Amino acid sequence: MKSFNPPLRTLMGPGPSDVHPRVLEALARPTVGHLDPAFQGLMEEIKLGLRYAFKTENSLTYPVSAPGSAGMETCFANLVEPGGEVIVCRNGAFGGRMLENVVRAGGKAIMVDFDWGTAIDPDKVEDALKANPNASVLAFVHAETSTGVKADARALADLARKYDCLTIMDCVTSLGGSELELDGWGIDAAYSGSQKCLSAPPGLSPVSFSAKAADFVKNRKTKVQSWFLDLSLVMDYWDGEGGRTYHHTAPVNAMYGLHEALVLLSEEGIENVWARHGKMHQALVAGLEAMGLEMLVKKKDRLSQLNTVKVPNGVDEAAVRSHVLKHFNLEIGAGLGVLAGKVWRIGLMGHAARRENIALCLSALASALEVQQVKVDINASYEAVNNLLN
Ligand SMILES: *Cc1c(COP(=O)(O)O)cnc(C)c1O
Repeated sequence: MKSFNPPLRTLMGPGPSDVHPRVLEALARPTVGHLDPAFQGLMEEIKLGLRYAFKTENSLTYPVSAPGSAGMETCFANLVEPGGEVIVCRNGAFGGRMLENVVRAGGKAIMVDFDWGTAIDPDKVEDALKANPNASVLAFVHAETSTGVKADARALADLARKYDCLTIMDCVTSLGGSELELDGWGIDAAYSGSQKCLSAPPGLSPVSFSAKAADFVKNRKTKVQSWFLDLSLVMDYWDGEGGRTYHHTAPVNAMYGLHEALVLLSEEGIENVWARHGKMHQALVAGLEAMGLEMLVKKKDRLSQLNTVKVPNGVDEAAVRSHVLKHFNLEIGAGLGVLAGKVWRIGLMGHAARRENIALCLSALASALEVQQVKVDINASYEAVNNLLN
């Protein structure tokens, strides 16, 4: 065996995103014990940093020691009891994963479906809430990474409250990328991932639970089926200030990375971070459209951090991705599910949401399309970007 030296890529797919050099540096610092007083101080800061990012006062806000899907499972395993009814909005791949979670927690999922690439219609969700008065949870994806569509989280949370349901919100791709306010919107449970707009490596899943959600867990009639994800046990570890007890060995160095990512976020300021994503998104879209490419999602429903671009007729979609990876070290994403072969997914997440990345992406795409005899006007594309960013 030999040491592994990865190629230096620019990551503009659906995640992981480019990791900031300061985060990479933090990851390489000496490992300490996970109950070391110095590490406990770091954990306290991570909790504060996450509350800032989520815009919440929830004391139960911490990173699950596993990727975003484990944060998802933490929410469903704890807030769904056997026989519990959950309304799940599905307009992409991750709504489908929520269904799997409900079923495995022994619950009954009531699916409210929308075409991939379109937004969740709150009126249709209200119909489902009216028709299912026993439902106790409403679940939806804030930023559908499979399609590039944003949900009206505030409207959905209002509906959940009106019909006496807890909300579970997937903000894996929205945390640190889109406007997000857990407390302002009244979200009860949210989960995210370290590798999307926070720009840390994959492997941690920040979660946050309201007091109402924590009460639900304390008053459950049955034990949470998963020992590792059972919030009532984790609470003593993450929430037990001072007298912290052993639950599992935290991934110490991964926490250094997340901590540095949160320091970067607070230095820039969360509102400025959202604004930067918005500005870079507008520039990227202007550049793509000037080149003759079309976006999949209606303007008002688009995410800044995940841009779905239609593959022009006759173009070999996979060949374009191979070309930009081989010749530009640039990773962009393919379409998932019903969108496979039909779109590219271009991420502008966290540290990747920068002007030089936009220029790289536009010229790499133009180069790949030229190879396939598609004529594009790269100068018009640069001009459109310059007009917006100068
Ligand atoms: C990436 C993603 C997940 C899953 O996160 P992993 O870290 O891959 O487990 C869940 N939901 C959404 C919306 C995502 O984009």
